[in-house]
Amino acid sequence: KWCDVEDMIGVVLSQVKDFQQHRELRVRLPEPVPFLPGDEVLLEQVLVNVVSNAIKYSPDYSDIVIEVKQDTQHVTMTVADSGLGVTASERERIFDKFYRAESTRHVPGTGLGLAICKGIVEAHGGTITAEPNQERGTIITITLPAGEQPQVPYPWIPEGEREPHDNP
Ligand code: ATP
Ligand code: MG
Repeated sequence: KWCDVEDMIGVVLSQVKDFQQHRELRVRLPEPVPFLPGDEVLLEQVLVNVVSNAIKYSPDYSDIVIEVKQDTQHVTMTVADSGLGVTASERERIFDKFYRAESTRHVPGTGLGLAICKGIVEAHGGTITAEPNQERGTIITITLPAGEQPQVPYPWIPEGEREPHDNP
C-alpha cells in the first residue's frame, strides 16, 4: 500500500501540536512529494516518536526541521533539532530498548520510542540512524526504499474521481 508523505506529515504535525510548546516545526518537501510503500499508521508513529523526541530534548523557541528527500532508490526523512544532542558513544545505543542517554535523564521517558521506531523502519526494509547536528543537537535520519513510484497520484482511485494533482 502506498502512503502519501505529505498527508503523513500533516497527521504527524497535528498529533504533536498540543505538545510542541514553543518549538517551530519547519517542513521541507521535495516536488513532487514522494509516495512510500508501507503502512501509513506505523510510519506516522515512527515520525511522531522522532519528532516528540526532538521536542522533548530541545529548548523552547528552537527550530525543528523535518526534511524529506528522494532519489531513485530511497526516500530519506530527517528530523533535526538543536537540543541536548547525543554523544558518539551513545549514538547507536539510543535505539536499544530502555536505553536513555545520560544527559537526558532529567526528562521523563521510558527509552522505548526509538526501539519501536527501529523495529518498524527495519520491517519496511529501511534504516534509522542518529548523528550530531551542525552546531548542537541531533539529526535522526530515516531511509526507506522508494519502491517504484506510482505513475499517477492515488492510482487506486478510479480515474474519473481523481483530483487534478497540480491544481488542487
Ligand atoms: P519514550 O519511550 O517515552 O520515547 P525516551 O524518549 O527516553 O522515552 P527513546 O525515544 O527511545 O526513549 O529515546 C532513547 C533516548 O535517546 C532518550 O532517552 C534520549 O536520551 C535519547 N534521544 C532520543 N532522541 C533524542 C534527541 N532528539 N536529542 C537528544 N537525545 C535524544
Ligand atoms: Mg522518546
